[in-house]
Amino acid sequence: MVKKPKIAIFKFTGCAGCQLELLHLEDIFLDLLELFDINYWVMVKRDNDEKEWDISLVEGGISTPKEIEEIKQIRKKTKFLVAFGDCAIGGCIPSIRNWIPQMEAENQVYPDTSTIHSMKVLGIGEYVKVDAILKGCPPHRETIVELLKSALLKIRPRLKQHPVCVECKFRDNACLITSKKMACMGPVTSAGCGAICPSLGRECEGCFGPMSNPNASALASIFKDIGFSEDDIKRKFRKYAGMSSEFQKEALHEWKK
Ligand code: SF4
Ligand code: SF4
Ligand code: SF4
Repeated sequence: MVKKPKIAIFKFTGCAGCQLELLHLEDIFLDLLELFDINYWVMVKRDNDEKEWDISLVEGGISTPKEIEEIKQIRKKTKFLVAFGDCAIGGCIPSIRNWIPQMEAENQVYPDTSTIHSMKVLGIGEYVKVDAILKGCPPHRETIVELLKSALLKIRPRLKQHPVCVECKFRDNACLITSKKMACMGPVTSAGCGAICPSLGRECEGCFGPMSNPNASALASIFKDIGFSEDDIKRKFRKYAGMSSEFQKEALHEWKK
């Protein structure tokens, strides 16, 4: 009998939405169990094997010294480590707090901060080597399946590098920037969701993170030209991927007076 690859799923600082998306693969979940041995997943299993894994899907960013040690241990025991979702890639929504002083953030949330040992929220790649990333908040089910299939076949997954705008055009949408002067992040955001938000008349907020080689400064200038404030523009770029090298300049930007 062919030995099934062992998969582990871990959670760090995030909302558990990426793990839920994995559970939402309901119609094919039993097929996945035929192909993989999910032997560590605290969210769904009582008995978990902590020995070693062929594939680890890691959700969430790293925000405490304890988490740094844990991700290093996971790396040591894993052959193929996946940053599963935007939090694991670059901190995502929890990393918004990186833009305000640590103590100020903690005091806003906790009545007693004496037991809190947190740091800036960063992606797991800051601390360990990552073999693949799965973009999205959460990743789309199709990209999860593509990654698992590729891991099984030991080939590179075909993940989209182009912007949401391409998917938006395939859906025949009128552009929200040009027709309604809305601050849509589609031109700099990685495709993969099928342009869900613009197709419903809502601007893309950038939840799939930066596309390959985005021109973030050009989009920031367009937002400024159509009347958005400098603070609004910074917040746009800070929301999902403010720690990424692609968006950090715009997330920090000081406009010339
Ligand atoms: S990437 Fe989004 S859905 Fe996944 S854990 Fe982070 S906040 Fe939740
Ligand atoms: S609405 Fe947004 S995603 Fe669609 S084409 Fe315009 S900028 Fe791109
Ligand atoms: S359109 Fe943008 S914000 Fe909406 S799901 Fe897609 S990537 Fe995320």
